[in-house]
Amino acid sequence: MEFYRIVISGVIQGVGFRPFVYREAVKRGITGFVMNKGSRVEIVASRSSILEAFKNPPPLAYISSVRVSRFSSDDAYDGFSIIESSGEGNSYDFPPDSYLCEDCIAELRHGSDRRHGYYFITCTNCGPRFSMINSLPYDRLNTAMSKFEMCEECRYEYENPGSRRYHAQTIACRNCGPRLVFVDKINGLSIINDPERNDALAAACKKIAERQIVAVKGVGGFHLCCLADKEPVSMLRGLKMGRLHKPFAVMVRDLDMLSGIADYSEEEAALLKSPARPILVVKKKEPRAMKWISELDSLGVMLPYTALHYLMFDYLDKPLIMTSANLAEHPLIIEDAELIGIDYVLTHERGVVNRCDDSVIKVITPRDEAREQAVVFLRRSRGFVPLPIRIAGNSPSILALGGGLKNAFAVIKDGQAYLSQHLGSTAYIQGGEFFDSALRRMIKAVCFKPELIACDANPAYYTSSLADRLASEFHAPVMRIQHHHAHVAGVAAEYSLTDYVGIAADGAGLGEQAVWGGEVFDVSGCCFKRVGHLEQMPMIGGDAAALKPRRMLYGILSGFLSNKELAGLNRQLPLYTEAELRVFDKQLSQGFNIALTTSAGRLLDAAAALLGLCNRNTYEGRAAMLLESAASGKPVYRLEPVIEKGEFLVLKTTPLFAFMLDKLRAGASRQELARLVHDYIAEGLYSIAEKAAMRQHKQIVFSGGVAANRYVTGFMLDRGVLVNQQVPCGDGGLCLGQGYIGLTAVEGVD
Ligand SMILES: [Zn+2]
Ligand SMILES: [Zn+2]
Repeated sequence: MEFYRIVISGVIQGVGFRPFVYREAVKRGITGFVMNKGSRVEIVASRSSILEAFKNPPPLAYISSVRVSRFSSDDAYDGFSIIESSGEGNSYDFPPDSYLCEDCIAELRHGSDRRHGYYFITCTNCGPRFSMINSLPYDRLNTAMSKFEMCEECRYEYENPGSRRYHAQTIACRNCGPRLVFVDKINGLSIINDPERNDALAAACKKIAERQIVAVKGVGGFHLCCLADKEPVSMLRGLKMGRLHKPFAVMVRDLDMLSGIADYSEEEAALLKSPARPILVVKKKEPRAMKWISELDSLGVMLPYTALHYLMFDYLDKPLIMTSANLAEHPLIIEDAELIGIDYVLTHERGVVNRCDDSVIKVITPRDEAREQAVVFLRRSRGFVPLPIRIAGNSPSILALGGGLKNAFAVIKDGQAYLSQHLGSTAYIQGGEFFDSALRRMIKAVCFKPELIACDANPAYYTSSLADRLASEFHAPVMRIQHHHAHVAGVAAEYSLTDYVGIAADGAGLGEQAVWGGEVFDVSGCCFKRVGHLEQMPMIGGDAAALKPRRMLYGILSGFLSNKELAGLNRQLPLYTEAELRVFDKQLSQGFNIALTTSAGRLLDAAAALLGLCNRNTYEGRAAMLLESAASGKPVYRLEPVIEKGEFLVLKTTPLFAFMLDKLRAGASRQELARLVHDYIAEGLYSIAEKAAMRQHKQIVFSGGVAANRYVTGFMLDRGVLVNQQVPCGDGGLCLGQGYIGLTAVEGVD
């Protein structure tokens, strides 16, 4: 008898794929079997019509390839069956963590359901995955659920192909699943939750209602949770050392609750409700409202994504702050013992295998309605990781290590790039350790032997020295890649471009004999030629200027104002103390600890300082974000970009500051000038790129931290410029660009 052997790759384990195949086969009267084989799913079927079913796979499935072969066999199958898994998996095709599906929400709410009010309810179509999977095949033993033995009722569902929880490794119920525990360190209390009454949950919510801060164990680590009111949020800022101003994310019960605090479009609502349940940056209803949460005109918001979140809103009918419990740029906290200085903890017994932060995205709308809007990542983690990104070029296998901040690495093989979750800064020991352990885990999971290791050209990064160590371990060469080249190559990777013109507007990164960050490159394959850049600006005190926007401003102003004029300006518009004026002048005239930069981020810093918006970058990109927030929606001024021709095309920035000074003196509004800064940079960099692109009919791409800016990127989108939409435009996306440059260098991508 003739049979078809169908081998499927992709994210197909842990998503209800086998029961789906089973149901579809039975429906079509097909005989044979389906099984997990290593990381793949193998089907033997009497007819090929089963392939039609793959057009509508289960919601969490992601099919990357289907191979079909025919063979003859004397075997006959009595109907269709699901058989035991075999083989070890060597793939990273885990599903990402996902939301709670509608069916599970209905059961959670249904009084007579045996999981009524149970905070760990999930099924094959929903719930955590990546954060709790150790390795493939996706069997209970390989997950954080291995220590919980199923009760009889759960086992029946688990083994019954007709059940919504057939082989759902997250299956649990009140009788057999992880327990919730509330710890009150002040009163020395520990309440193990009674599932009938949810008393531990109620006690935790009571503390939140009383304006306390409670650490809540979630999917990928601990959140700190409190009411979104001023008093608890100020307390929270005190707890999170160094988090003076950085906005916190807010969780709302539903879109109704969101409508009370923010505006959102239909597309944004759809993103909020998507299975990934990201934090979405949306405009506040009232720009100055909830200043204590966000000093910007925007808010990061998300909807509940676990049953526990839904249940919390039964007790708390108000928006909640949900911020990761770790210090800024440090790894997420996953153990109760790491929660130092927190009095109240709502924890549970399921471990976190892979730490995973909430993802953050933002929708940028072009002014031209005929153009498509862009959905940009500020952080790509929970809900998206470890889904691969398809890229052109099959070999060699590349490990790309990214940069230093907001870091992620990428494993690239067989035309797929697997990015790690957001790993934070590797400047701290904990960050370096987290980076190493996540890297080792992935290398092991995919039996990965890199043939090339790509890293940033800056030798000061932890990842650059790690590259050397890995190179000797794997006997692979190291390729060091200029920071902004990697940024623009990340966009090229997403759209399979090889020859293009790239605009990078970013914070400061090591360039050739200078600090770059506002660059236009003409790229052919793996090589780039710098064709233009922003005018060079002195950074007074070197890197210290990145923290202190007024230093950048002084450097720029001193380029076209005499000392006397500067002193005069300072009397009208107090920016500096007398001592500062003296010291900065001395430093500049002696060239003491001065670096020159073309960074767009630093330029935005200076503009924010001039407009009195920001004196200190207490978090990365703060000044630029305040400038974006302050900018008027509609442009009032336009200043023709001044571009100087020489070895490079240089966008002059002194005319911009001279213009702003004039207008400020004439009483112009800061909002209108803030807007002008964005338009000037966008138009100037674009026109340099356009000149280079037109000559050779090349596509223009735009990347770097500034590509998260709604006005600069909005301008670019209006002109058909491509931006990152699968990886962050900031440093979290560097690894994809590095890997892609490696591919084009070694293989040549068609
Ligand atoms: Zn479900
Ligand atoms: Zn059970």
